[in-house]
Amino acid sequence: MLAAIGVTVAIVIALYTFFVHRVQSEWWRERTQAQNVITATMVHEYLAGVMLSDRHQEVLHFLQQLQSKNEIWRGRVIKVDGTIVFSTTTQEMKHATLATPPELFREKHILHGVRVEDGHQIAIAMYPIQNRASCAHCHDDKKELLGAIVLERSLEPAVATVARNRNLLLLYGALIFVIVGVVVWLLIVRLVAQPVHNLLAQMERVRAGDLTARVPAQSHDEIGRLTDGFNSMVESLQKTTEELRESHERQIQQAGKLASIGELASGIAHEIRNPLAGIGAAVEVLAESAKDREIVGEIRKQINRLSATLRGLLDFSRPSEPEIMPCDVGELLKPMLALTRPDAQKANVQIITECPDNLPPISADPQQLQQAILNILLNAIQAMPHGGTLTVRTDLHVNRLRLSIRDTGVGIPRENRERIFSPFFTTKHHGTGLGLAITRSIIEKNGGTIAVESEVGRGTTVFMEFPVSKQEASDAKNQSAGH
Ligand code: ADP
Ligand code: MG
Repeated sequence: MLAAIGVTVAIVIALYTFFVHRVQSEWWRERTQAQNVITATMVHEYLAGVMLSDRHQEVLHFLQQLQSKNEIWRGRVIKVDGTIVFSTTTQEMKHATLATPPELFREKHILHGVRVEDGHQIAIAMYPIQNRASCAHCHDDKKELLGAIVLERSLEPAVATVARNRNLLLLYGALIFVIVGVVVWLLIVRLVAQPVHNLLAQMERVRAGDLTARVPAQSHDEIGRLTDGFNSMVESLQKTTEELRESHERQIQQAGKLASIGELASGIAHEIRNPLAGIGAAVEVLAESAKDREIVGEIRKQINRLSATLRGLLDFSRPSEPEIMPCDVGELLKPMLALTRPDAQKANVQIITECPDNLPPISADPQQLQQAILNILLNAIQAMPHGGTLTVRTDLHVNRLRLSIRDTGVGIPRENRERIFSPFFTTKHHGTGLGLAITRSIIEKNGGTIAVESEVGRGTTVFMEFPVSKQEASDAKNQSAGH
């Protein structure tokens, strides 16, 4: 970047120097020519004076004085035919003629220009001498012009001045270049290089795994925004990592808890199952002779509930390995919906199914899957004690079949959403809290996933996704390739 700035500044300074130099050369050249013309006018006036008083030779003297003062390089007075009458180069007087441009005597005004002699630039001015009445005593009064004054002036002093100025300009340019360079360098180091260096150092820390790295806020410019962006990025990274670690820890704890609960639960369930069966049998006997049938009925109901919980516990703690086979989710759903319909009708719940027939089968254990679906259907109906709508939908999602069960029930408060899959978590009076724990374990064993979306007061949707049966998936692929 420094090099680019340096080159740009150098080019700007060089261009500036070049233009100033050109303007100066032009100015000096014009100035020299103008001076030459002024001198010629002066000589013309002087000439008229000395001619009238017959002091012709003073003209040459005057020209020589001008020459010695460096006002002119050479001065001549010529006749109309070009014969040199006076010249500061005395040898050529009366002997030589000077070729003049024809327009000098035709147009009768001053001509001036620049010519080059031996590599030197010389400004030349030619001033035609008018014949006046006062000249008549010496000159023929019929002639309109008597001759011309020709002055030459060297441009060398001007060229030397311009060259000196150019050198000065170059020197100043170099000086400005150095000053600008130093200032830009300091600015870059202060405003860019240092902050970027800080940022890189902190990035390196983050890369090495230290998520507490932060860059101190320095400015409000782009670098400042970059710094802020980096800080907030690392901050959210740190937060996410922390959350991930916590959730991982919780999962591990949960798994440990589940395992021990499982063992404990299955032990207790076994212990209780037999006495409970005994109590059940005894109650049956009692029921035949009992007077208060209502009480016996209640005892029976509670025994049934207990054995359902025991069954759930045993299922949960010792879930059998799934027997995977291709199964049609639509077909699996039908008997489960039929089972729940009476409960739904009682609670005034309308059931809507949106299950297309042409969906591919999935690979799963059909019985386990039905148990999971039934748990979720029951939860949904139980969440709508005052009626509502239960929507069951299946659709295909890139080689995965999605089953969603939606209710318009009470919803799940945010603080409970994490816990509903934990065993024994229930908000119901007679709930076991095992339904969703068993359901999740089944779904995961069958290669699927389960997720819940819920809004308090509006309802809950449970999504389950299963991979489409491999055979079916490859068939579908072949088919689409064949088309
Ligand atoms: P249980 O049904 O025996 O309470 P579950 O494991 O099936 O146990 O459910 C745990 C808890 O999750 C329920 O008590 C209830 O609070 C909540 N829950 C589950 N499904 C729903 C639903 N569809 N709508 C509202 N809450 C639900
Ligand atoms: Mg339940």
